Amino acid sequence: MRLTVVGCSGSVPGPQSPASCYLVEADGVGADGAPRTWRIALDLGSGALGALQRHLDPMTLDAVLLSHLHADHCLDLCGLYVMLKHSPVGPQPRPRVPVWGPTGTAARLARAYDLSPEPGMNREYEFAEWADAQPVEIGPFTVTPMRVNHPVEAYGVRVEAGGAVLAYTGDTDACEALESLCCNASLMLADAAFIDGRDESKGIHLSGRRAAQAALDAGGVQRLVLTHLPPWNDAAQVVEQAREVWDGPLDVAEPGATYDL
Ligand SMILES: [Zn+2]
Ligand SMILES: [Zn+2]
Repeated sequence: MRLTVVGCSGSVPGPQSPASCYLVEADGVGADGAPRTWRIALDLGSGALGALQRHLDPMTLDAVLLSHLHADHCLDLCGLYVMLKHSPVGPQPRPRVPVWGPTGTAARLARAYDLSPEPGMNREYEFAEWADAQPVEIGPFTVTPMRVNHPVEAYGVRVEAGGAVLAYTGDTDACEALESLCCNASLMLADAAFIDGRDESKGIHLSGRRAAQAALDAGGVQRLVLTHLPPWNDAAQVVEQAREVWDGPLDVAEPGATYDL
C-alpha cells in the first residue's frame, strides 16, 4: 500500500498545501480479473483537486472516502463533480465514482454546489453512508470507519491492504475509538492541529502530544505522521510537544510525501 500526501493543511488551505486529501494505492484485480492498481482518496478538501491532478486523473479514482463534512475535508468534490459531468475526455457516459461519508453526504454536497437535492450529484457519484465500525471492501482495501470526537459526525478511517494498515484519524480529539482505529498501524496519520497551552477547547482536535499519546495507547504503531496543522502553527512546536511522549519514527505531513507501507 502506498500513501501520498496530496494536501495536509489544517482547516484552511495554506501557501504550500491544500486542505486535507490523501491518495492511497494498492495492487488488486479488476472486475475482469486482470491485475490493476486501485486508488482511493481520503478526503478531498479545499484546494486538493488541483494538486491531486499531479498524481492521477481524479475521474479515475475508485472511491472518495470522507471523514466528515467540514469544508476543508469535502468541498473539492464540487470541482470533481464538474469534471465528471462536463469533461469530454474518457468513457461516456462515465461510471459513477463511489463516495463514502457521514449521514447526509449527498444532500450536503448538493447544497454546497447550490443544486436541488434530486438529482444533486447522484448521477456523478454513487453515495454511501458510513456505519460505525462496519468494514467496507473496495478492491484490495478493507476500510473500517470509526466514529471519533469532533463537533460533527466524524470518522477516523482504518485502511488495510496486503498486510499493511493505514490509520487516518480525520479530525478528532482524544477518544476511545482511536485505540481500535490505530492499533498495530503501519502508519498513523493523526490530526495535530492544536497546541497544548494555547488551544484549550475540548472535543475538536488532537495536539501533537495527544496524538502521540493516542499512538502509544493504541499500541504497535510503527510510524506517526502529524497532519492538519493550520498555516498559523509552528511545526517545530507541534513536534516538540509530540516528542514529550513519543520517541518512535515521527514526521509532519508534507504535500507530495509518499510512504510505502
Ligand atoms: Zn479539518
Ligand atoms: Zn473538522
